[in-house]
Amino acid sequence: MNLHEYQAKEVMKAYGLPVLNGYLCHTPEEAEKAAKDLGTAVCVVKAQVHAGGRGKAGGVKLAKSPEEAKQIASEILGMTLVTPQTGEQGKLVSKIYVEAGCPIENEYYVSLVLDRATKSISVIACAEGGTEIEEIAEHTPEKIINVQINPNAGYQSFQGLEVAFKLGLDAKQARGFSPILEKLYKVFIEKDLDMIEINPLVLTTDGEFLLLDAKCAVEDNALFRHPDLKEMMDEDEIDPKELRASKFGLSYVSLDGTIGCMVNGAGLAMGTMDMIKFCGGEPANFLDVGGGASKETVTEAFKILLSDDKVKGILINIFGGIMQCDVIAEGVLSAAKEIGVSVPLVVRLQGTNVKEGREILANSDLDIVSAETLDEAAMKIVELTK
Ligand code: ADP
Ligand code: MG
Repeated sequence: MNLHEYQAKEVMKAYGLPVLNGYLCHTPEEAEKAAKDLGTAVCVVKAQVHAGGRGKAGGVKLAKSPEEAKQIASEILGMTLVTPQTGEQGKLVSKIYVEAGCPIENEYYVSLVLDRATKSISVIACAEGGTEIEEIAEHTPEKIINVQINPNAGYQSFQGLEVAFKLGLDAKQARGFSPILEKLYKVFIEKDLDMIEINPLVLTTDGEFLLLDAKCAVEDNALFRHPDLKEMMDEDEIDPKELRASKFGLSYVSLDGTIGCMVNGAGLAMGTMDMIKFCGGEPANFLDVGGGASKETVTEAFKILLSDDKVKGILINIFGGIMQCDVIAEGVLSAAKEIGVSVPLVVRLQGTNVKEGREILANSDLDIVSAETLDEAAMKIVELTK
Protein backbone atom coordinates (compact mmCIF):
# COMPACT_ATOMS: atom_id res chain seq x y z
CA MET A 1 0.00 0.00 0.00
CA ASN A 2 1.33 3.41 -0.93
CA LEU A 3 1.07 6.52 1.21
CA HIS A 4 0.47 10.06 0.02
CA GLU A 5 3.28 12.56 0.51
CA TYR A 6 1.44 14.32 3.35
CA GLN A 7 0.85 10.99 5.12
CA ALA A 8 4.46 9.84 4.69
CA LYS A 9 5.63 13.16 6.11
CA GLU A 10 3.34 12.72 9.12
CA VAL A 11 4.96 9.33 9.78
CA MET A 12 8.47 10.77 9.28
CA LYS A 13 7.74 13.70 11.58
CA ALA A 14 6.73 11.34 14.38
CA TYR A 15 10.23 9.85 14.14
CA GLY A 16 11.83 13.27 14.52
CA LEU A 17 12.71 13.62 10.86
CA PRO A 18 12.81 17.21 9.62
CA VAL A 19 9.81 18.17 7.50
CA LEU A 20 8.25 21.57 6.86
CA ASN A 21 4.84 22.62 8.11
CA GLY A 22 1.96 22.09 5.76
CA TYR A 23 -1.79 21.62 5.49
CA LEU A 24 -3.91 19.19 3.52
CA CYS A 25 -6.53 21.14 1.52
CA HIS A 26 -9.49 20.27 -0.68
CA THR A 27 -10.56 23.70 -1.93
CA PRO A 28 -8.83 26.90 -3.15
CA GLU A 29 -10.20 28.72 -0.08
CA GLU A 30 -8.59 26.22 2.25
CA ALA A 31 -5.33 26.66 0.36
CA GLU A 32 -5.51 30.44 0.80
CA LYS A 33 -6.08 30.06 4.54
CA ALA A 34 -3.26 27.48 4.79
CA ALA A 35 -0.84 29.88 3.08
CA LYS A 36 -1.87 32.65 5.48
CA ASP A 37 -1.46 30.39 8.51
CA LEU A 38 1.96 29.23 7.34
CA GLY A 39 2.98 32.86 7.16
CA THR A 40 6.04 32.17 5.02
CA ALA A 41 7.08 34.41 2.12
CA VAL A 42 6.71 31.49 -0.27
CA CYS A 43 4.60 28.37 -0.06
CA VAL A 44 4.31 25.38 -2.33
CA VAL A 45 1.05 23.87 -3.59
CA LYS A 46 1.46 20.14 -4.21
CA ALA A 47 -0.97 17.71 -5.84
CA GLN A 48 -1.52 14.62 -3.67
CA VAL A 49 -1.69 11.58 -5.92
CA HIS A 50 0.10 8.25 -5.71
CA ALA A 51 2.66 9.06 -8.39
CA GLY A 52 5.97 10.80 -8.74
CA GLY A 53 6.95 13.26 -11.43
CA ARG A 54 4.30 15.74 -10.27
CA GLY A 55 6.62 18.74 -10.46
CA LYS A 56 7.39 18.34 -14.17
CA ALA A 57 3.72 17.72 -14.95
CA GLY A 58 2.56 20.95 -13.30
CA GLY A 59 1.39 19.41 -10.04
CA VAL A 60 3.85 21.29 -7.78
CA LYS A 61 3.93 25.09 -7.89
CA LEU A 62 5.35 27.95 -5.85
CA ALA A 63 3.05 30.70 -4.57
CA LYS A 64 4.28 34.05 -3.29
CA SER A 65 1.04 35.11 -1.58
CA PRO A 66 -2.12 33.52 -0.15
CA GLU A 67 -4.05 34.87 -3.17
CA GLU A 68 -1.63 33.19 -5.54
CA ALA A 69 -1.87 29.96 -3.51
CA LYS A 70 -5.65 30.13 -3.96
CA GLN A 71 -5.27 30.72 -7.71
CA ILE A 72 -2.79 27.85 -8.16
CA ALA A 73 -4.94 25.56 -6.00
CA SER A 74 -7.92 26.23 -8.26
CA GLU A 75 -5.81 25.18 -11.26
CA ILE A 76 -4.36 22.03 -9.71
CA LEU A 77 -7.51 20.77 -7.99
CA GLY A 78 -9.60 18.89 -10.51
CA MET A 79 -6.80 18.56 -13.05
CA THR A 80 -5.84 15.18 -14.45
CA LEU A 81 -2.16 14.86 -13.78
CA VAL A 82 -0.29 12.77 -16.33
CA THR A 83 3.24 11.75 -15.32
CA PRO A 84 5.45 8.84 -16.41
CA GLN A 85 4.16 7.03 -13.31
CA THR A 86 0.40 7.52 -13.78
CA GLY A 87 -0.05 5.87 -17.16
CA GLU A 88 -1.73 7.67 -20.07
CA GLN A 89 -5.07 8.01 -18.32
CA GLY A 90 -3.48 10.18 -15.60
CA LYS A 91 -4.77 10.78 -12.08
CA LEU A 92 -7.49 13.15 -10.99
CA VAL A 93 -6.26 15.54 -8.28
CA SER A 94 -8.79 15.92 -5.48
CA LYS A 95 -6.49 17.09 -2.69
CA ILE A 96 -3.41 19.23 -2.35
CA TYR A 97 -0.76 19.83 0.28
CA VAL A 98 0.14 23.44 0.94
CA GLU A 99 3.61 23.51 2.43
CA ALA A 100 6.03 26.17 3.57
CA GLY A 101 8.61 27.01 0.93
CA CYS A 102 12.31 26.79 1.61
CA PRO A 103 15.52 28.15 0.04
CA ILE A 104 17.38 25.24 -1.52
CA GLU A 105 21.16 24.92 -1.69
CA ASN A 106 21.25 21.38 -3.07
CA GLU A 107 18.85 18.50 -3.73
CA TYR A 108 19.82 14.91 -2.89
CA TYR A 109 18.11 11.62 -3.65
CA VAL A 110 17.86 9.05 -0.84
CA SER A 111 15.83 5.88 -0.81
CA LEU A 112 15.66 2.65 1.13
CA VAL A 113 14.38 -0.50 -0.53
CA LEU A 114 14.09 -4.11 0.40
CA ASP A 115 16.70 -5.84 -1.75
CA ARG A 116 15.81 -9.51 -2.00
CA ALA A 117 18.89 -10.35 -4.08
CA THR A 118 21.31 -9.33 -1.31
CA LYS A 119 18.87 -10.03 1.54
CA SER A 120 19.47 -6.53 2.83
CA ILE A 121 18.02 -3.07 2.93
CA SER A 122 19.63 -1.05 0.18
CA VAL A 123 20.30 2.63 0.60
CA ILE A 124 20.29 4.23 -2.82
CA ALA A 125 21.48 7.81 -2.96
CA CYS A 126 22.61 10.47 -5.40
CA ALA A 127 24.10 13.93 -5.02
CA GLU A 128 22.05 15.11 -7.98
CA GLY A 129 18.53 14.51 -6.68
CA GLY A 130 15.34 16.23 -7.71
CA THR A 131 13.12 15.95 -10.73
CA GLU A 132 15.85 14.74 -13.13
CA ILE A 133 16.77 11.61 -11.18
CA GLU A 134 15.40 9.20 -13.82
CA GLU A 135 17.63 10.76 -16.51
CA ILE A 136 20.68 10.56 -14.23
CA ALA A 137 20.00 6.91 -13.43
CA GLU A 138 19.68 6.15 -17.13
CA HIS A 139 22.58 8.15 -18.59
CA THR A 140 25.10 8.34 -15.71
CA PRO A 141 24.32 5.37 -13.46
CA GLU A 142 27.80 5.64 -11.91
CA LYS A 143 26.52 8.65 -9.98
CA ILE A 144 24.10 6.43 -8.05
CA ILE A 145 25.39 5.22 -4.70
CA ASN A 146 24.33 1.90 -3.24
CA VAL A 147 25.06 0.82 0.32
CA GLN A 148 23.60 -2.33 1.88
CA ILE A 149 22.42 -2.54 5.47
CA ASN A 150 22.31 -6.05 6.88
CA PRO A 151 18.97 -6.32 8.71
CA ASN A 152 20.46 -8.70 11.31
CA ALA A 153 23.13 -6.21 12.31
CA GLY A 154 20.90 -3.17 11.74
CA TYR A 155 22.02 0.32 10.83
CA GLN A 156 25.62 1.10 11.83
CA SER A 157 26.69 4.70 12.21
CA PHE A 158 29.67 4.25 9.87
CA GLN A 159 27.16 3.51 7.12
CA GLY A 160 25.61 6.96 7.50
CA LEU A 161 29.05 8.48 7.14
CA GLU A 162 29.88 6.20 4.21
CA VAL A 163 26.81 7.39 2.28
CA ALA A 164 27.48 11.01 3.32
CA PHE A 165 31.04 11.01 2.05
CA LYS A 166 30.09 9.24 -1.16
CA LEU A 167 27.57 12.05 -1.66
CA GLY A 168 30.44 14.52 -1.33
CA LEU A 169 29.22 16.06 1.94
CA ASP A 170 31.74 17.79 4.20
CA ALA A 171 32.25 16.69 7.83
CA LYS A 172 29.64 19.07 9.25
CA GLN A 173 27.06 18.12 6.65
CA ALA A 174 27.81 14.44 7.22
CA ARG A 175 27.05 14.88 10.92
CA GLY A 176 23.67 16.34 9.92
CA PHE A 177 22.98 13.62 7.37
CA SER A 178 23.81 10.49 9.41
CA PRO A 179 21.01 10.81 11.99
CA ILE A 180 18.55 11.29 9.13
CA LEU A 181 19.56 8.03 7.51
CA GLU A 182 19.46 6.30 10.90
CA LYS A 183 15.90 7.50 11.51
CA LEU A 184 14.79 6.58 7.99
CA TYR A 185 16.08 3.06 8.63
CA LYS A 186 14.19 2.94 11.94
CA VAL A 187 10.92 3.98 10.24
CA PHE A 188 11.54 1.46 7.48
CA ILE A 189 11.94 -1.44 9.95
CA GLU A 190 9.38 -0.46 12.57
CA LYS A 191 6.63 0.37 10.08
CA ASP A 192 7.28 -2.69 7.86
CA LEU A 193 7.91 -0.64 4.74
CA ASP A 194 9.02 -2.00 1.38
CA MET A 195 10.26 1.35 0.19
CA ILE A 196 11.01 4.89 1.33
CA GLU A 197 11.97 7.48 -1.25
CA ILE A 198 13.05 10.98 -0.25
CA ASN A 199 13.53 12.97 -3.42
CA PRO A 200 14.60 15.57 -2.77
CA LEU A 201 16.29 15.57 0.58
CA VAL A 202 17.48 19.16 0.50
CA LEU A 203 20.29 21.04 2.09
CA THR A 204 18.95 24.53 2.73
CA THR A 205 20.99 27.69 2.36
CA ASP A 206 21.21 27.60 6.20
CA GLY A 207 22.95 24.23 6.06
CA GLU A 208 19.96 22.21 7.37
CA PHE A 209 18.64 19.01 5.87
CA LEU A 210 14.91 18.77 5.10
CA LEU A 211 12.71 16.08 3.59
CA LEU A 212 10.93 18.00 0.82
CA ASP A 213 9.24 14.99 -0.74
CA ALA A 214 8.47 11.59 0.75
CA LYS A 215 7.09 8.38 -0.68
CA CYS A 216 6.45 5.20 1.30
CA ALA A 217 5.17 1.77 0.39
CA VAL A 218 3.89 -0.34 3.27
CA GLU A 219 4.08 -4.11 3.01
CA ASP A 220 0.44 -5.20 2.59
CA ASN A 221 0.95 -8.43 4.52
CA ALA A 222 2.10 -6.45 7.57
CA LEU A 223 -0.74 -3.93 7.50
CA PHE A 224 -2.64 -5.85 10.17
CA ARG A 225 -0.08 -4.79 12.76
CA HIS A 226 -0.17 -1.12 11.77
CA PRO A 227 -3.75 0.08 12.22
CA ASP A 228 -2.49 3.69 12.08
CA LEU A 229 -1.12 3.09 8.58
CA LYS A 230 -4.08 1.03 7.45
CA GLU A 231 -6.28 3.99 8.25
CA MET A 232 -4.27 6.01 5.72
CA MET A 233 -5.43 3.80 2.85
CA ASP A 234 -6.86 5.98 0.08
CA GLU A 235 -9.40 3.79 -1.68
CA ASP A 236 -9.59 6.23 -4.61
CA GLU A 237 -5.99 5.32 -5.47
CA ILE A 238 -6.58 1.58 -5.64
CA ASP A 239 -7.89 -0.38 -8.63
CA PRO A 240 -11.59 -0.91 -7.70
CA LYS A 241 -11.41 -4.56 -8.66
CA GLU A 242 -8.37 -5.12 -6.43
CA LEU A 243 -10.09 -3.31 -3.59
CA ARG A 244 -13.25 -5.42 -3.90
CA ALA A 245 -11.17 -8.60 -4.08
CA SER A 246 -9.23 -7.70 -0.93
CA LYS A 247 -12.49 -7.25 0.97
CA PHE A 248 -13.40 -10.85 0.14
CA GLY A 249 -9.93 -12.18 1.03
CA LEU A 250 -9.03 -12.84 -2.61
CA SER A 251 -5.55 -12.14 -3.98
CA TYR A 252 -6.17 -10.22 -7.18
CA VAL A 253 -3.81 -8.29 -9.41
CA SER A 254 -5.06 -6.57 -12.53
CA LEU A 255 -3.01 -7.13 -15.72
CA ASP A 256 -3.22 -5.95 -19.33
CA GLY A 257 -4.33 -9.10 -21.20
CA THR A 258 -7.73 -10.46 -22.24
CA ILE A 259 -8.04 -13.82 -20.50
CA GLY A 260 -9.55 -13.73 -17.02
CA CYS A 261 -8.15 -16.41 -14.71
CA MET A 262 -9.68 -17.95 -11.61
CA VAL A 263 -7.32 -20.32 -9.86
CA ASN A 264 -6.73 -21.67 -6.37
CA GLY A 265 -3.25 -21.35 -4.96
CA ALA A 266 -0.65 -18.78 -5.95
CA GLY A 267 1.68 -21.34 -7.54
CA LEU A 268 -1.05 -22.79 -9.70
CA ALA A 269 -2.13 -19.26 -10.62
CA MET A 270 1.41 -18.42 -11.78
CA GLY A 271 1.58 -21.73 -13.68
CA THR A 272 -1.75 -21.00 -15.35
CA MET A 273 -0.62 -17.55 -16.43
CA ASP A 274 2.60 -19.02 -17.83
CA MET A 275 0.65 -21.62 -19.77
CA ILE A 276 -1.71 -18.99 -21.22
CA LYS A 277 1.28 -16.98 -22.41
CA PHE A 278 2.94 -20.11 -23.74
CA CYS A 279 -0.16 -20.76 -25.87
CA GLY A 280 -0.04 -17.22 -27.25
CA GLY A 281 -2.58 -15.50 -24.98
CA GLU A 282 -2.27 -12.78 -22.34
CA PRO A 283 -3.78 -13.05 -18.85
CA ALA A 284 -6.06 -10.19 -17.74
CA ASN A 285 -5.34 -10.81 -14.09
CA PHE A 286 -3.81 -12.91 -11.38
CA LEU A 287 -6.52 -14.28 -9.12
CA ASP A 288 -6.02 -16.72 -6.30
CA VAL A 289 -9.28 -17.67 -4.60
CA GLY A 290 -7.32 -19.43 -1.84
CA GLY A 291 -7.36 -22.95 -0.52
CA GLY A 292 -10.63 -22.89 1.39
CA ALA A 293 -12.86 -20.63 -0.68
CA SER A 294 -16.61 -20.83 -0.15
CA LYS A 295 -19.36 -20.66 -2.75
CA GLU A 296 -19.72 -16.94 -1.89
CA THR A 297 -16.06 -16.11 -2.52
CA VAL A 298 -16.10 -18.02 -5.79
CA THR A 299 -19.22 -16.11 -6.83
CA GLU A 300 -17.54 -12.82 -5.93
CA ALA A 301 -14.35 -13.76 -7.77
CA PHE A 302 -16.34 -14.60 -10.87
CA LYS A 303 -18.20 -11.29 -10.70
CA ILE A 304 -14.91 -9.39 -10.43
CA LEU A 305 -13.60 -11.13 -13.54
CA LEU A 306 -16.77 -10.40 -15.49
CA SER A 307 -16.81 -6.73 -14.46
CA ASP A 308 -13.55 -6.22 -16.36
CA ASP A 309 -14.20 -4.95 -19.91
CA LYS A 310 -10.84 -6.26 -21.09
CA VAL A 311 -11.87 -9.85 -20.36
CA LYS A 312 -12.74 -11.69 -23.58
CA GLY A 313 -12.77 -15.16 -22.04
CA ILE A 314 -12.38 -16.88 -18.69
CA LEU A 315 -10.28 -19.83 -17.67
CA ILE A 316 -11.12 -21.53 -14.40
CA ASN A 317 -8.37 -23.84 -13.23
CA ILE A 318 -9.01 -25.49 -9.89
CA PHE A 319 -7.21 -28.26 -8.15
CA GLY A 320 -9.47 -29.55 -5.38
CA GLY A 321 -7.49 -30.31 -2.26
CA ILE A 322 -9.20 -28.78 0.74
CA MET A 323 -11.27 -26.93 -1.82
CA GLN A 324 -13.97 -29.14 -3.32
CA CYS A 325 -14.68 -29.11 -7.03
CA ASP A 326 -18.46 -29.23 -6.51
CA VAL A 327 -18.29 -26.06 -4.39
CA ILE A 328 -16.45 -24.33 -7.21
CA ALA A 329 -18.96 -25.56 -9.74
CA GLU A 330 -21.86 -24.25 -7.66
CA GLY A 331 -20.16 -20.90 -7.21
CA VAL A 332 -19.63 -20.57 -10.95
CA LEU A 333 -23.26 -21.46 -11.65
CA SER A 334 -24.66 -19.06 -9.08
CA ALA A 335 -22.51 -16.17 -10.31
CA ALA A 336 -23.32 -16.94 -13.93
CA LYS A 337 -27.05 -16.99 -13.15
CA GLU A 338 -26.84 -13.73 -11.27
CA ILE A 339 -24.91 -11.72 -13.84
CA GLY A 340 -24.90 -13.76 -17.04
CA VAL A 341 -21.78 -14.89 -18.86
CA SER A 342 -21.20 -13.19 -22.17
CA VAL A 343 -17.70 -14.54 -22.87
CA PRO A 344 -16.33 -18.04 -23.55
CA LEU A 345 -15.69 -20.06 -20.41
CA VAL A 346 -13.22 -22.93 -20.10
CA VAL A 347 -13.19 -24.95 -16.89
CA ARG A 348 -10.60 -27.41 -15.76
CA LEU A 349 -11.35 -29.20 -12.51
CA GLN A 350 -9.21 -31.85 -10.83
CA GLY A 351 -9.05 -33.34 -7.35
CA THR A 352 -11.56 -33.68 -4.55
CA ASN A 353 -15.15 -34.26 -5.73
CA VAL A 354 -14.14 -33.72 -9.35
CA LYS A 355 -16.88 -36.08 -10.59
CA GLU A 356 -19.60 -34.19 -8.74
CA GLY A 357 -18.20 -30.85 -9.89
CA ARG A 358 -18.08 -31.83 -13.56
CA GLU A 359 -21.60 -33.26 -13.33
CA ILE A 360 -22.99 -30.02 -11.93
CA LEU A 361 -21.46 -28.06 -14.80
CA ALA A 362 -22.45 -30.60 -17.45
CA ASN A 363 -26.07 -30.61 -16.26
CA SER A 364 -26.33 -26.82 -16.27
CA ASP A 365 -27.51 -24.89 -19.31
CA LEU A 366 -24.30 -22.83 -19.28
CA ASP A 367 -22.13 -22.92 -22.37
CA ILE A 368 -18.99 -24.33 -20.78
CA VAL A 369 -15.99 -25.89 -22.46
CA SER A 370 -14.39 -28.37 -20.13
CA ALA A 371 -10.79 -29.55 -20.18
CA GLU A 372 -8.93 -32.27 -18.32
CA THR A 373 -5.37 -30.92 -18.37
CA LEU A 374 -3.91 -27.47 -17.94
CA ASP A 375 -2.33 -27.26 -21.41
CA GLU A 376 -5.58 -28.37 -23.03
CA ALA A 377 -7.49 -25.74 -21.02
CA ALA A 378 -5.02 -22.96 -21.91
CA MET A 379 -5.04 -23.88 -25.60
CA LYS A 380 -8.84 -23.88 -25.70
CA ILE A 381 -9.30 -20.50 -24.03
CA VAL A 382 -6.62 -18.87 -26.20
CA GLU A 383 -8.32 -20.32 -29.28
CA LEU A 384 -11.77 -19.11 -28.19
CA THR A 385 -10.60 -15.56 -27.46
CA LYS A 386 -8.69 -15.09 -30.72
P1 ADP B 1 7.67 15.23 -7.57
O1 ADP B 1 8.81 14.39 -7.15
O2 ADP B 1 6.40 14.45 -7.66
O3 ADP B 1 7.94 16.00 -8.82
P2 ADP B 1 8.41 16.99 -5.35
O4 ADP B 1 7.71 17.08 -4.05
O5 ADP B 1 9.71 16.30 -5.33
O6 ADP B 1 7.40 16.34 -6.40
O7 ADP B 1 8.58 18.47 -5.91
C1 ADP B 1 9.27 18.77 -7.10
C2 ADP B 1 10.31 19.85 -6.86
O8 ADP B 1 9.67 21.00 -6.31
C3 ADP B 1 11.38 19.48 -5.83
O9 ADP B 1 12.44 18.79 -6.46
C4 ADP B 1 11.78 20.83 -5.29
O10 ADP B 1 12.76 21.43 -6.14
C5 ADP B 1 10.51 21.65 -5.37
N1 ADP B 1 9.83 21.71 -4.05
C6 ADP B 1 8.99 20.80 -3.54
N2 ADP B 1 8.56 21.14 -2.32
C7 ADP B 1 9.15 22.32 -2.04
C8 ADP B 1 9.13 23.21 -0.90
N3 ADP B 1 8.39 22.95 0.18
N4 ADP B 1 9.88 24.33 -0.98
C9 ADP B 1 10.63 24.61 -2.07
N5 ADP B 1 10.69 23.83 -3.15
C10 ADP B 1 9.97 22.69 -3.15
MG1 MG C 1 10.04 14.24 -5.64
